[in-house]
Amino acid sequence: MPTKKKEKKEEQKEKVVAKKPAEKKVVGEVPKKKINPISLPRGMRDILPEDQLVWDRVRSACKTLSDAYGFRRIDTPIVEDTNLFVRGVGKHTDIVEKEMYSLETEGGEKLTLRPEGTASVMRAYISNGMFNQPQPAKLWYMGPMFRHERPQSGRYRQFQTFGCEVIGEKDPVLDAQIILLSWLILKELGIKGIVRINSIGTPESRSAYKQVLVQYFRSHRSKLSDNDKRRLLRNPLRILDSKDEGAIELKVDAPQIVDWLDDTSKAHFMRVLEYLDEVGVPYQLDPYLVRGLDYYSDTVYELFDEEEADERSQSALGGGGRYDGLSELLGGREETGAVGFGLGMDRIVSRLKSMAGDEPVKEEEAPVFIAQLGEAGRKRSLAVFEELRLAGIRASEAFGKESIKAQMEVANRRGAKWAVIIGQKEVLDGTAILRDMDSGSQEIIDATKIVRELEKKL
Ligand code: AMP
Repeated sequence: MPTKKKEKKEEQKEKVVAKKPAEKKVVGEVPKKKINPISLPRGMRDILPEDQLVWDRVRSACKTLSDAYGFRRIDTPIVEDTNLFVRGVGKHTDIVEKEMYSLETEGGEKLTLRPEGTASVMRAYISNGMFNQPQPAKLWYMGPMFRHERPQSGRYRQFQTFGCEVIGEKDPVLDAQIILLSWLILKELGIKGIVRINSIGTPESRSAYKQVLVQYFRSHRSKLSDNDKRRLLRNPLRILDSKDEGAIELKVDAPQIVDWLDDTSKAHFMRVLEYLDEVGVPYQLDPYLVRGLDYYSDTVYELFDEEEADERSQSALGGGGRYDGLSELLGGREETGAVGFGLGMDRIVSRLKSMAGDEPVKEEEAPVFIAQLGEAGRKRSLAVFEELRLAGIRASEAFGKESIKAQMEVANRRGAKWAVIIGQKEVLDGTAILRDMDSGSQEIIDATKIVRELEKKL
């Protein structure tokens, strides 16, 4: 731009600024009342910037492996019709009985913040007619889930899940592939996973098993906690998941569901195990693993860190299984084969952090710092920052600070190797100062050559 024109523009800008009314002073101002800070709701937490690198690692491992295995991302809403979970997850599950964040809108809609992902993905499969596409549909999702549980270590009221679902086919090879994929994600992150696996058969064999299980626990009723007595009436399989002493003790001699499986379920389970052997996924048979949600059939499994596997379900890093009956429960086609897993990303992140000695992972420092002095220097610096960014040179700045000393302190703290310093004089001369932050030596360079000079040095 010709200088005269530029000067005129500057003049106009100044006039605009000068026209602004002066700030009014308040005379006899009343001291402000202290306002209590708003605290975080119980069981919720912030994931701070210093933890985001570990989170990114987890997200990226989940995504990369699932993409490689042919899964495609799906995002479903966080809010769904409450009935989706009542019907899908099951009326008498802990989730539906006491853990859902539900609300009723002014229009009378009953909605719930999703407590898990599978029911939503199956709902999306049905409502988007995905059964008309080539089968199976292989979908992955990632996002927050909400359960009003008692907050404790590894248990939050909002937590992040990554999940994969294969919908539309029934072959046991798909169960094995799902288990393999979840195990591989942990492996990729450096966690030695171990699978606990069981088969809970068809709804028919399960109902026969439930009867003998109820008989067994009823004959030892006095040893059960009130909570487990309630479970005995409403959802007896859940007693096997109980953390209460009486039930844990009784479980040792309780009947096992494998003895009630029909031939098809038995054969399905055997083949899943054979495939797992083939790909070298380590597993333990757990005859009492039933999982908390009603929609499972045949294969159920949970994933643990081998080193923490003894601490049982509180530390499960993930879990999943087959849910062939869910489609029908949600009004979709009958017997739509489906199998999937959900990984608890919060637990995986905290495991990775403790493996790294709970040291925050350091972000890679920008090698260049841009320092400015005076209004003209600051303006020019904004443009220089953008020039560097476009050239792929990572830079940091402290544009809000005025003194060079304060800016150099920031540059040192951030571990910058080079500082580009631009003041009033440099703007007028069309130059910049390039400072070697280690030795403190400085040189004056042409302002048009900042990128080139830095590229030579970095
Ligand atoms: P689920 O659908 O209950 O099997 O959950 C899948 C995975 O999510 C579990 O294996 C846990 O790793 C994780 N998870 C479940 N509930 C919570 C929670 N309240 N807080 C943190 N992670 C959870």
